[in-house]
Amino acid sequence: MNNKLLELIFPAKCGFCGKINTQYLCKKCETKLGFEKSITNINVSKSCYFKHYLYGYLYKENIRRKMIDFKFNDKPELAHTFAKLLLNNEKICGFLKSYDIIIPVPMYHKKQIQRGYNQSELVAQIIGKELQIECIKDVLYKKRPTKMQSSLDKQMRRINVKDAYDIKNEQKIKENKIILFDDIYTTGNTVKECSKVLKKSGAKEIAVLTIAKD
Ligand SMILES: [Zn+2]
Repeated sequence: MNNKLLELIFPAKCGFCGKINTQYLCKKCETKLGFEKSITNINVSKSCYFKHYLYGYLYKENIRRKMIDFKFNDKPELAHTFAKLLLNNEKICGFLKSYDIIIPVPMYHKKQIQRGYNQSELVAQIIGKELQIECIKDVLYKKRPTKMQSSLDKQMRRINVKDAYDIKNEQKIKENKIILFDDIYTTGNTVKECSKVLKKSGAKEIAVLTIAKD
């Protein structure tokens, strides 16, 4: 079914207030979130495999509630709303334009089948399409299941994801500047692990982008 037809059956709505809105985000709701809007471009320490880190919002209040809804309540359509929030940020888009590829942090395949979708992948695809940056999903993969990071303490979080990711088709990323996309940044262990394998497989430079930072 094409998009236009889908929109007739399921009209696009603002992800926050539910009113019909072709952009999946109304001005009123976006303005309300405005005070949370934030961006960092941390020049990450040299020991890190990624060079920059950017995020759209702090993980609190409405953003937090809506992200939980997106992830756990079978609401894949919220991907449009979250992508829009980042795409409306000129600083973030300006920065990303010099990158070649966007790669979402993968889920373990069995978990993705259970949930029905990978929320980070859905958002990364929309951002990639809009900025004309290729979204690549068949390079980085998760080779074993892990526990929910939020259920663990700091030390256990690091151990939990250690060496959990790997690379295939590495010729696709060689010498490329990569945006590694995840929904949330808490301790950074997940994106550090993913960056490590990407960098070791020949990625030229990595910038991490998340919707929110905890
Ligand atoms: Zn709204």
